[in-house]
Amino acid sequence: MRSINEALASIIGADRVASDADALNARRYDQWAVKHLRDWRGEAVPAPGCVVRPQSVEDVQKVVKLAAEKRLPLIPYGLGSGVCGGIEPSPQAILLDMSGMKRVRYIHGDDLLASFDAGLNGMEAEETVAAHGLTIGHWPQSIAISSVGGWVATRASGQFSTAYGNIEDIIHSIEAVLPNGELVTLGKAVRAAAGPDLRHLLMGAEGTMGVITGVTFSLRAKAPHRDYSIFYADDMCAGFEAQRQIVRADWRPPVMRQYDGREVRRLFRDHARDGKTMLLMVHEGPKARVDAELAAMHEICVAAGLEAGNPDAAKQWIERRNHVPSWRDMFDRGYVADTVEISGHWSEIGAIYDDSIAALNEIPGVINASAHSSHVYRSGINLYFSFAATFEDSAKMEPAYFACWRAIMEATAKHGGGVAHHHGAGRLRKPFLHHDLGDNGVALLRQLKHCLDPQGIMNPGNLLPDA
Ligand SMILES: Cc1cc2nc3c(=O)[nH]c(=O)nc-3n(C[C@H](O)[C@H](O)[C@H](O)COP(=O)(O)OP(=O)(O)OC[C@H]3O[C@@H](n4cnc5c(N)ncnc54)[C@H](O)[C@@H]3O)c2cc1C
Repeated sequence: MRSINEALASIIGADRVASDADALNARRYDQWAVKHLRDWRGEAVPAPGCVVRPQSVEDVQKVVKLAAEKRLPLIPYGLGSGVCGGIEPSPQAILLDMSGMKRVRYIHGDDLLASFDAGLNGMEAEETVAAHGLTIGHWPQSIAISSVGGWVATRASGQFSTAYGNIEDIIHSIEAVLPNGELVTLGKAVRAAAGPDLRHLLMGAEGTMGVITGVTFSLRAKAPHRDYSIFYADDMCAGFEAQRQIVRADWRPPVMRQYDGREVRRLFRDHARDGKTMLLMVHEGPKARVDAELAAMHEICVAAGLEAGNPDAAKQWIERRNHVPSWRDMFDRGYVADTVEISGHWSEIGAIYDDSIAALNEIPGVINASAHSSHVYRSGINLYFSFAATFEDSAKMEPAYFACWRAIMEATAKHGGGVAHHHGAGRLRKPFLHHDLGDNGVALLRQLKHCLDPQGIMNPGNLLPDA
């Protein structure tokens, strides 16, 4: 790699190219539990051959052109919060660390648009528009540790998605460097009937179709008023039914989360009620609309057999919502754990929940299998499973981890659900992609990838199932 490092240094400057052991080791993986586990167990986890930190679109173009000319793997890295193994460098790879590209390009209050370099930290982007009384409205739990370009690359979802939408509803335009080094800006008009929406080639591509260099979001004014509500249901299905009726009646509380009894006990100890599930909602907007929504929620939920609870539980969630323990803390305590998000139509979600929990509980070592829903749509809802398994022998953790993932993927697919709601596919979920796309859909994705990236330099091995 030495000659490559020198070539990179000569085109974008030596200060933007790192090949020392610390810089390389710090970019070996994202937040995928398996890589942390292997590292914690002392197993080898490969580092990239070099780390490049572009400061401009031109820098990115030069690096992409060099990688194409030398046929070297190029791995875009936002802020490394991905949880599905989107970052897996080899010693031949150039890792393109986008965190140096963090300019606010413009904020246009009248058009409700804000444009940023792709590497900008999500919370910094949100705080910048908040100073103008605006919001991006995208609140992933990882907002403070992820980049705006990463949000687009992974098709992310925020906690307030039920009213404000997922990233595909919030993005206005995407600027990207294609694998041949050409620059494109996709998404110019407020709405277009100008052929297929090419933004979707990059949304969710996880670094396999090009490098996102800039993103422009369609903003909204910050909500003037917020309120909360809590209801208890006898079981998950009763709560799903109440949520189905709420969206069918055309109400859209931005946050709708329903925790099963186990999660209520674990996360809301003071608010647990006889093993019941808990529906937590946050309501935002003009006060008159929020008041009307609160009244409507009460009417619909009580008619559906739910009991009203103390809204303090929802306030507690708002305050603590972004805290998560580190993988290493869990391994030190003898656990391997993860979360798995899927989706299902209303008619199938109850069976997906029941079968996934039952299948997880069959796996030796599993001590927790639970779930909550957190994103609601007219036709269905997501589920966010949590599992934890414990072993004396840490060598048993990784096989159990993959068994838990497989159990949820298969139970979801069996009932026709979607196997990936918002964390993307990465290397973890790519063997299950055919469940969502079909074999012909996977073949189409391969053709598109080949068309854009015939040399296969962009994040090879990611997203697409192994041939
Ligand atoms: C504690 C925690 C909570 C989380 N909560 C949520 C949540 O609520 N909602 C949610 O959707 N996700 C969540 N995630 C997952 C993760 O934060 C998102 O996937 C996020 O969008 C990744 O952004 P990043 O900048 O960290 O990307 P990275 O991890 O750096 O990269 C992710 C993938 O995108 C590619 N990529 C990154 N930047 C670019 C770019 N500029 N151009 C092209 N490709 C690029 C990478 O190659 C990789 O394949 C959570 C993760 C953690 C650890």
